Amino acid sequence: MNKPSTHSPPTFTCDVFVCGGGVAGTIAAVAAARNGARVFLAERYGFLGGNATAGAVAQFNSWQTANGRKVVAGLADEVVQRLRSYGAAADHQVFVMSTGHTMDRVEYAPEILKLVLDDMVCEAGVQPLLHAQLLDVACEGRCVKSVQMLTKSGVITIEPRVLIDASGDLDALRKAGGTFLPLSEGESLQPATMMFRFGPVDFERFNQTSKEDIKALAKRGFETGALARAALHASRNPYSDDAWFNISRLSVDATDALALGQAEMEGRQQAWRAATFIRTHVPGCESGQLQAFATQVGIRETRRAQGDHVLTAQELLTPVVFEDAIAAGAYPIDIHPAQGGDLIYKAMDEDHAYQIPYRSLIPISLDNALVVGRGISADHEALAAIRVMTISMAVGQAAGTAASLACKDQAGNVSVRSLNRQTLQTSLAQSGAILK
Ligand SMILES: Cc1cc2nc3c(=O)[nH]c(=O)nc-3n(C[C@H](O)[C@H](O)[C@H](O)COP(=O)(O)OP(=O)(O)OC[C@H]3O[C@@H](n4cnc5c(N)ncnc54)[C@H](O)[C@@H]3O)c2cc1C
Repeated sequence: MNKPSTHSPPTFTCDVFVCGGGVAGTIAAVAAARNGARVFLAERYGFLGGNATAGAVAQFNSWQTANGRKVVAGLADEVVQRLRSYGAAADHQVFVMSTGHTMDRVEYAPEILKLVLDDMVCEAGVQPLLHAQLLDVACEGRCVKSVQMLTKSGVITIEPRVLIDASGDLDALRKAGGTFLPLSEGESLQPATMMFRFGPVDFERFNQTSKEDIKALAKRGFETGALARAALHASRNPYSDDAWFNISRLSVDATDALALGQAEMEGRQQAWRAATFIRTHVPGCESGQLQAFATQVGIRETRRAQGDHVLTAQELLTPVVFEDAIAAGAYPIDIHPAQGGDLIYKAMDEDHAYQIPYRSLIPISLDNALVVGRGISADHEALAAIRVMTISMAVGQAAGTAASLACKDQAGNVSVRSLNRQTLQTSLAQSGAILK
């Protein structure tokens, strides 16, 4: 019979340590490993994907400008191709949002995305460390020296040359003494949402219902208290008659443990009320039932890093051309207010795209760390655009590539600031990324 191990957990060294296996972190890890780095990817759940799987967001939005110019590709495209080979992603579609704006998306099955991310990580030779919660980060001056993860084997220590914080909430940067951007007067964190799976839906009837009728139903649902948000926004789960509904709205600071737990419970209540309303009132949904809640409430916004450059909404709207651009995007500024049923939505012109500079990935207080995903250095309004999964994957690819190039180029302590930006841009372009 096997006896439980009594050995103390080992210490590992690696080139790149990625904390958090959401889409941004997983893509960063894969990019770093494909570029030759020894990579650890740590994630608190037993699977990868973050909001994209645990949060069941279920649609990748905004691959292109309103007039159809593609602005996100690279590894994000590969994720979709791999999902398709499992039969788990729909065709790319252009649709009209509840706000009346044109948007594009790829709907996918969150469960199968877990498999795709596993495949990519394993094939690239990334060392996954699942069921691992960040415990602490030790620094010497401006350099991250080690990261401690709490695991089933006890506390595992990893000594990386570069840390990529992809935890969404930037827990690693916080432990490393990093600084964060405050909200401005009148701003509040975007609310969280408990996604829920509902079905079966008769999609022919559901999709034939006019936009005006859906809008009127949503308004009625919101005014009667059945819906927390005046929308009936749904993504079809491929190869099923079920949809993931994005309706609940929870005003919460998800870095506050007690408030987060309360939001999970309130989210399930809101989802249940919404499902009852949908079954009773929405054409095509009469036989449907709530099938599943997302594993966790989806988090739109928590901490934003203070980086070498703070990307502003004005820079997206102008748009500014950055010498150190590492990714592009076209998703508009889309703020879900913490209270009330509406959206604040700043649409962009037909061919409008913007760039994201490398400096927004570099926390000001550290030399060998990068941030990715929904925590990069951007003001509240700019983050409301660049937080989407397509752009998060593009930024992840850039950070992973940058970290591995920095490790290759520099002996001893690594400075991600010293990296030659043109070398990074060339490498990204060669691997299919779009930078403008
Ligand atoms: C309800 C909702 C709807 C959305 N709708 C869309 C949409 O339609 N289309 C679109 O493209 N985008 C959408 N978004 C935005 C998008 O989902 C997120 O911004 C994006 O997924 C962020 O990815 P990320 O990897 O930066 O962060 P996350 O997905 O938050 O990933 C962070 C990862 O780190 C892990 N982690 C966190 N803390 C720790 C720790 N201390 N130790 C170890 N691991 C840790 C988490 O478990 C998670 O896996 C939506 C978001 C929400 C919440």
